[in-house]
Amino acid sequence: MSKGKLFILAGPSGAGKATLVHALLAADAKVQLSISFTTRAPREGEQNGREYHFVSREEFLAMAGRGEFLEHAEVHGNLYGTSQKWISDAMARGQDILLEIDVQGAQQVRRIFDGAVGVFILPPSAEILEQRLRNRGTDSEEAIVKRLANAREEIAHVGEFDYVIVNEHIDEAVRDIIGVVRAERLRFLAQ
Ligand code: 5GP
Repeated sequence: MSKGKLFILAGPSGAGKATLVHALLAADAKVQLSISFTTRAPREGEQNGREYHFVSREEFLAMAGRGEFLEHAEVHGNLYGTSQKWISDAMARGQDILLEIDVQGAQQVRRIFDGAVGVFILPPSAEILEQRLRNRGTDSEEAIVKRLANAREEIAHVGEFDYVIVNEHIDEAVRDIIGVVRAERLRFLAQ
């Protein structure tokens, strides 16, 4: 069985990661998205087990204590983590895996899997990022301010990634991410 590739998608909130993830999953049936665990409260329209597995802080910490996360991190005051078991099962099936995680998580994963491919999504400008976060209308003012400060810190790590996609025009960004996945697969086959 061929070995799957591990893709990490990171970038500040409001860069459009979720849209790119959905477009990639729709375009490429070989890629499977890891559903993270989080202590964040569900936003309107989010479903347990679809966007995230929503758990209490106590449950999350107990899972972390049992070593059930491949990586975990605190982002904007909430805990987020990737299931170790889900990743090893998907890898055993030879699937390509997509992780949509923050830069701290990306660093942890790359320490474990040096073949992981890091893709960083950038918004076209700081102003557009702020506009997108506000237009989303899903976060409080306090959460938006926290996310903007965090965005600056995240962007400082762009150099740790293999690819950078500037999400100015969504169609182009979608084409870029699909292209990265295909190219990386071909590179793997050629080795
Ligand atoms: P949101 O609350 O907007 O869904 O996500 C906030 C941030 O947490 C995003 O940057 C997202 O990529 C990150 N995130 C989501 N799941 C995980 C995870 O499992 N691990 C880590 N380290 N970050 C995550």
